[in-house]
Amino acid sequence: MDTKVYYLDEHQDEKIREAAEVIKRGGLVVFPTETVYGLGANALDEEACRKIFIAKGRPQDNPLIVHVADFDISDYVEYIPENAKKIMENFWPGPITMVLKKSSKIPMLVTANLDSVAIRMPSNKVARKLIEYSGVPIAAPSANISGRPSPTTIEHAIEDLMGRVDMIIGGEKCEFGLESTVVEVLNDKVTILRPGAITKDMLEDIGLTVDIDPAILKRPDENLKPKSPGMKYRHYAPKAEMTIVTGRIDRAVDYINYKIKEMKSKGKVVGVLATEETKQLYEGGYIISVGSRNKLGLIAANLFDTLREFDKINVDYIYAEGFEEEGLGLAIMNRMKKAASYNIINV
Ligand code: AMP
Ligand code: MG
Repeated sequence: MDTKVYYLDEHQDEKIREAAEVIKRGGLVVFPTETVYGLGANALDEEACRKIFIAKGRPQDNPLIVHVADFDISDYVEYIPENAKKIMENFWPGPITMVLKKSSKIPMLVTANLDSVAIRMPSNKVARKLIEYSGVPIAAPSANISGRPSPTTIEHAIEDLMGRVDMIIGGEKCEFGLESTVVEVLNDKVTILRPGAITKDMLEDIGLTVDIDPAILKRPDENLKPKSPGMKYRHYAPKAEMTIVTGRIDRAVDYINYKIKEMKSKGKVVGVLATEETKQLYEGGYIISVGSRNKLGLIAANLFDTLREFDKINVDYIYAEGFEEEGLGLAIMNRMKKAASYNIINV
């Protein structure tokens, strides 16, 4: 398939309208959002959405998020709980997805046969114009080959999906760099199914009662049916085997230095996912600083790009410093743990 690539921003209406035409006639468009790049199709067109699963190699039991540009979502859901209204008022447009009871308009393929649908209004202006001009909601997972780190730049999306989609648009780096927070919204409470930039504290600050789904904190159990299907997959994974080293940071650095030496003696190259505070403490190895520990927002924005960097230089092993699982750290560690297939060493 020929893939058209347009580098553009929100001021290039003509090209965004051309992309919208592709969506309208059942094609696939990769577009930027503030979380990660998305691989979009008309959410009301089952055949169009089927192409998403094929292009990504995505398992069919992993549902898609429906992206909207209008606050009136009543066509797509059975009812809107008060809690959902609060979330919309406070955080939409933005990086939070709500799981609500679906209406019959949303094809079962989109929700992987669940009776709920995940809906989000992105804040990225190109994304919103694309949805508006298409005149339909856009179903979109992240624009990567299934299992790889999510794309946070247009280059990542081109790397994975060139020749597999009709069009790729964008150019800017994603502001948040991690996928949206996913919450199941009921009348009495809200449950975080996937942590993201909108944190538990932020949801509590607007008066909501918030649970964190236990599956987020522990290693997934093969026998347990997860509430959020995406929870069970190895995800975001670089090619090299990755280990997260948690515990006191000086001990983590010592341990990683020991590993660099040990692997070097076996002729293996170690990549280190380090931070600004520690990068100069490593001896040998391929060191990439993911950002400063005082700026978790930037670490989140850089994480997937850093994982893809390690792929490019073909390291044999990756050792990554861990972060505290608080605030945004919960979302960062959630992606890192999956990337590492839950290979974690506490020192
Ligand atoms: P992605 O588009 O790759 O960011 O993945 C979307 C994720 O949203 C899925 O992997 C699920 O974790 C979650 N999700 C989407 N729809 C639902 C739903 N109906 N119920 C629960 N989780 C959902
Ligand atoms: Mg994804």
